[in-house]
Amino acid sequence: MKRRELLRYGMLGAAATLGWACRQRTEAIPSAAGSAVRVHWRLATSWPPNFPVFEEGPRRLAERLEKMSGGRFTLEVDSAGKHKAPFGVFDMVRNGTYQMGHTAAYYWKGKEVVMSLFTTVPFGMNVLEQYAWFFYGGGMELMQEVFGKHGLLSFLAGNTGVQMGGWFRREIRSVQDFRGLKVRIPGLGGEVLARLGAEPIILPAGELYTALEKRVIDAVEWVSPAIDLMMGFQEIAEYYYLGWHEPAAELQYLVNKRSFEELPPEFQAMLVTAMHETALETTAEFFARNVEGLEALRTKYPHVKILRFPDEVVAALKQHTRQLLQEYAARDPLFRRVWESQQRFLERARRWTEISEQYYFTIR
Ligand code: CA
Repeated sequence: MKRRELLRYGMLGAAATLGWACRQRTEAIPSAAGSAVRVHWRLATSWPPNFPVFEEGPRRLAERLEKMSGGRFTLEVDSAGKHKAPFGVFDMVRNGTYQMGHTAAYYWKGKEVVMSLFTTVPFGMNVLEQYAWFFYGGGMELMQEVFGKHGLLSFLAGNTGVQMGGWFRREIRSVQDFRGLKVRIPGLGGEVLARLGAEPIILPAGELYTALEKRVIDAVEWVSPAIDLMMGFQEIAEYYYLGWHEPAAELQYLVNKRSFEELPPEFQAMLVTAMHETALETTAEFFARNVEGLEALRTKYPHVKILRFPDEVVAALKQHTRQLLQEYAARDPLFRRVWESQQRFLERARRWTEISEQYYFTIR
């Protein structure tokens, strides 16, 4: 299969790593078409049961696979409510307890910091720039290299778009206001806030409301109006800040590499195609739900103040982000390669963004 064909079928990520193996498998495994080959996989999510938008992706994936395969490739989706390990998805997929996960790469920062770069980077690329990097800037290949070391494959699973800066119980007027503040915020953004004196905390989605209500945390960043209102944060915190830390948070389908290699080639193609299709739908759904959520926020909860962080705070966040990324790059050659790849791509991409999207917003 040529590179162009792989791209068209959305299989570049897997094929970049598995190209040789896949070709071997194509010959080694008899075609499943018209045969009685049946596969049943299990997928673990990092989300509470029936979690809007997040869980709909893998549920749609299961429906697609069943239809595409004529019922021969089935997928069982287990939420964190069932398996009880929202942050154990990486290990459960790696050890084969589950063949797949639906989660976010930055939850695995404790395994390897470089993994967080495949979700989003503070002050980094926006959604379109990041998709262009993944498919045409070498991002997919780098992602498979990073996760492949752990016996895993990683695929895009839908993007939240720019996330909000979080819900705060009191107004942030200066950098000093972050001192001692307990904030639920994962990823590199959390580390940056720590440098301003805040205490970043990671909690599963199901525990956030109670933690904020009982003042276990003083502030919570979660996603954006699409999801946040359902969590009820507006009942407790009245300051809702604009974002900086997750300009394009991409969710993640994790796949056990050996299980993938053992699939008949047409099931591999169905899986990759359906993952990319549901990822695109999820990206669109986040945008649509944000539109609805913002409307609901403005009409039903007018007491909520939507604010920008002061310029002084944004400047400090930017400076600390840069320092943090440079430090990781100096310590970890793989982190350096991925980050430099993103930086090089962003520098060129932003010139186009500026004279296309950005300009357009000034004249409409
Ligand atoms: Ca978030």
